[in-house]
Amino acid sequence: MRSIAPSITADIDEIDQAQIINELYQANALAEHIRRQGSAIITSSTHCVDCGRPIPEARRHAVNGCRRCIDCQDLLENWRN
Ligand SMILES: [Zn+2]
Repeated sequence: MRSIAPSITADIDEIDQAQIINELYQANALAEHIRRQGSAIITSSTHCVDCGRPIPEARRHAVNGCRRCIDCQDLLENWRN
């Protein structure tokens, strides 16, 4: 009778390899991000530091480390220009 153990071991090895490749890919992506940004991922504020209104989740994800709502950010950038 033929054992099924070798095929199970092979499957586990393939899953392990896929996980290792995935982890390496994620580590490389993070390293690349840090290299480009000059720092690690900065958590965005949930509320605007100027007006205190909640910052929409989409904006928090789109703008890494954002601190202001779009209205206050616009005011700030227009004031600077
Ligand atoms: Zn604001």
